[in-house]
Amino acid sequence: MSASPSVSGKSDAAAAESYDVAVVGAGFAGMYMLYKLRGLGLSVRVYEQGGDVGGTWYWNRYPGARCDVESMQYSFSFSDELQQEWDWSERYAPQPEILRYANHVADRFDLRRDIQLDTTVERAIFDESANAWSVTTSDGNTVSANYVVLATGCLSNARMPDIEGLQDFKGKLYHTGHWPHEPVDFSGQRVGVIGTGSSAIQSVPVIAAQASHLTVFQRTANFSIPARNAALTPEEREAIRAKYPEIRRFAREQARNGIYTELPDRGALDDGDNERRSKYESRWARGGLTFMSVYNNLALDKAANDTAADFVRDKIAEIVRDPDTAKLLQPTTHPIGTKRICIDTDYFATFNRPNVTLVDIKSHPIERVLPHAVRAGGRDYEVDALVLATGFDAMTGSVARIDIAGRNGQTLNQKWAEGPKTYLGLMSAGFPNLFIITGPGSPSVLSNMIVSIEQHVDWITEAIGWMRERDLVAIEADKDAEDKWVAHVNEVAHSTLYPQANSWYMGANIPGKPQIFMPYIGGVGAYRQICNDVAAKGYEGFAMSAAPARRAAALSWVSSFS
Ligand SMILES: Cc1cc2nc3c(=O)[nH]c(=O)nc-3n(C[C@H](O)[C@H](O)[C@H](O)COP(=O)(O)OP(=O)(O)OC[C@H]3O[C@@H](n4cnc5c(N)ncnc54)[C@H](O)[C@@H]3O)c2cc1C
Repeated sequence: MSASPSVSGKSDAAAAESYDVAVVGAGFAGMYMLYKLRGLGLSVRVYEQGGDVGGTWYWNRYPGARCDVESMQYSFSFSDELQQEWDWSERYAPQPEILRYANHVADRFDLRRDIQLDTTVERAIFDESANAWSVTTSDGNTVSANYVVLATGCLSNARMPDIEGLQDFKGKLYHTGHWPHEPVDFSGQRVGVIGTGSSAIQSVPVIAAQASHLTVFQRTANFSIPARNAALTPEEREAIRAKYPEIRRFAREQARNGIYTELPDRGALDDGDNERRSKYESRWARGGLTFMSVYNNLALDKAANDTAADFVRDKIAEIVRDPDTAKLLQPTTHPIGTKRICIDTDYFATFNRPNVTLVDIKSHPIERVLPHAVRAGGRDYEVDALVLATGFDAMTGSVARIDIAGRNGQTLNQKWAEGPKTYLGLMSAGFPNLFIITGPGSPSVLSNMIVSIEQHVDWITEAIGWMRERDLVAIEADKDAEDKWVAHVNEVAHSTLYPQANSWYMGANIPGKPQIFMPYIGGVGAYRQICNDVAAKGYEGFAMSAAPARRAAALSWVSSFS
């Protein structure tokens, strides 16, 4: 159990309005941040706009929602007791179970007493003279905090599409990222799903099994690999638990994406056709995200990538009986893996059902939504319910909704107008004592997010602890270090095939959003090493300062990242 929070010498009256750290968001990141900061003896207040903890798993309750990193790995590693005692029921746990796990974590570590639910952080203004943030919440309260940690989530700002007539729709309207808490039953209904990304790929087979008719509106076909989900036996769980030290170490230090799997030692073109096909077949049969790590150059070499993409396109053609539908479902606009690869249970086979229609809205765009239909390509598709599986304003969307003003009153939205700029994805120059968890410029959404969350939280905790030992009160990313890091992130991205896709990694799903490749592709192991080296060199690339009285003796490290 974590230590009780102390209030760092502040009186009880002051404590109600003043905290060492304000944390925004109570998903996995915010909860673990609270746990670790308590360990330093700090006073912490966590604000969560939702009605309970869990973040992603609180909001995304759509049919078929589940994780796509295997649960025994998509789980916290910081407490061995926790990972030994929690029984995951399936290879990929469904959303209700992951939400139960989040609640279990909150209770087991007694986190709730410092989490304020149903409260949105609306504004955070940095007071340079006090080295503190003034944080205003939706309940009208303003508190002071020395540090603010944005644990606001990369996929937490549901994107409503701009479709004419949507507001006049008279049937039931849902967004996968804002699903109602009560069960939704589509039995006997004509349902439309707009979008064919990960959430649609998970929900379409489940909705099709209920609905009288399902119409799927597809703009871009996506690659998807079978999940091969199944119940976990006690023996399987025990075998993984026994290997946890090795699995977790590998995921943190060696894996590119934070997932334990074999590291490929050859490229796709190093094998002949038969050998390559048999390797793809075996990964297809195994199922899951590790399909992309059959070879070491699928993200780098277009010819190599084509072999994997062709394999999946052939599989789609084998599964889907109608050749025209199969052709529409075969992705051709981007190399495989350069958009978030999906994993599914019977997605492509669902289009063999007589009650499912696929509509190509790339060649026949949606013109408008009518009270009881969607009009696309001059044809009206009648629907009783409409599901928007249109994704998120990823990585920056939730941060941008908070009015954040740093040094000299500059807002973060002004600074990021041309795209997000951070040093290591952790801080942005001009915004002292403001940390971001899994922010743009870090591996984040390209990884098993819990691995990345734990790494960031540990790093931030150590940095704050290090500063307190030295009576330092402010930390800020150095502008030069930041510029070099942004250039490095870009350079690495452009040495791969990723920028060839119009993906949400690039902000391409949001009209008008600057198109910059946001996550860091260098891999979680390499990235962790960079962050550790920065810390070992006295937080190289960060400027730190003492309270004004001690400023004369302040330590400052402003050497740049190299
Ligand atoms: C459907 C779906 C499936 C996913 N599956 C996987 C997977 O299998 N593997 C994987 O690695 N990742 C997956 N992800 C990514 C997932 O978001 C992360 O794994 C992880 O849950 C993120 O945790 P978090 O705490 O950083 O953010 P979140 O879980 O998004 O939590 C952020 C919280 O901050 C709150 N918040 C935001 N702004 C404010 C504000 N201004 N004031 C107050 N509160 C605020 C939000 O309400 C939210 O509850 C998935 C995402 C989705 C949407």
